[in-house]
Amino acid sequence: MSDILTETDARTAAAPAHPMEPYLRMDRIPHIWCPGCGIGPVLTCFVDALHKGDFDLDDVVVVSGIGCTGRVAGYIKLDSFHTTHGRALPFATGLHLSNRRLKVVVISGDGDLIAIGGNHFIHAARRNVDLTVICVNNFNYAMTGGQVAPSTPTGALSSTTPFGNSEHPFNLPGLAASSGAVYVARWTCLHVRRLTRSILEAIRKPGFSFIEVIAPCPTLYIRRNKLGSVLDVLRYYKEKSEIRHDADPTKVDIGYGGTITVGRFVDIEKPTFLDNLDANLERRLGEEYGLHKEYYMRTAARRALVDRGARHE
Ligand code: SF4
Repeated sequence: MSDILTETDARTAAAPAHPMEPYLRMDRIPHIWCPGCGIGPVLTCFVDALHKGDFDLDDVVVVSGIGCTGRVAGYIKLDSFHTTHGRALPFATGLHLSNRRLKVVVISGDGDLIAIGGNHFIHAARRNVDLTVICVNNFNYAMTGGQVAPSTPTGALSSTTPFGNSEHPFNLPGLAASSGAVYVARWTCLHVRRLTRSILEAIRKPGFSFIEVIAPCPTLYIRRNKLGSVLDVLRYYKEKSEIRHDADPTKVDIGYGGTITVGRFVDIEKPTFLDNLDANLERRLGEEYGLHKEYYMRTAARRALVDRGARHE
């Protein structure tokens, strides 16, 4: 027995590090996601975008709410926060406003962001808070047993709609764009290169950027709706996805088994929440606000230097 352990240890010690290891909390692996789940590829694309973007990782923060996608925050080796259900966006807004140097990325599921968090979503977009939101949409509440969600297509089965959903689902890009988002895109988790590029664009974009990623939940949604294997679903993504950049985001609804319009639908310039706040207070308070802002910037810069020094000791 001890010989076997020694051999295993030797093999592990000799194994080369995975290129993603600097970005992941390897002590938390294996992850909880089911085989074939679409969340893993989205995490891969996010990490790849971080790598390609050559960001200072001290300046990037990940926030998530509750649900299967919410677990991303626990696996990523950045400052990350796994917050309460539906509250990822107010938490992320607070982080950004307290330190404008940070790039705050929210990665969460459709149930968390658009159901219980729906009100926070429309108001963060309306204010154009400088956040990037990546919503993994698998059309149901997966972690709690596959209940109907505001993204479930009409007619689809869920644990709470055993005879088929009779409600209209939200069209998430349409909701984001009409609420005020400056960058809106949709991809499936099969479009790994395009999704990676889109995440990079969204992180670099000042203002509220939103990417919906259609992803399979084989354990609940696919099985219950008898959609075949994960490969069958990926084949469906391949055959039924239609890339239409600049398509009207209010007209890209997904019907049950229908076409999935993907692409970058919105990419516009608009002052962010902090741009507007600064402009308003500078106009009202003049020099007084200028001094406050200068003090704030100097304090933030000094705090960053001190933090950096402490980490390198
Ligand atoms: S329940 Fe569905 S969404 Fe959750 S980990 Fe399993 S496959 Fe993924």
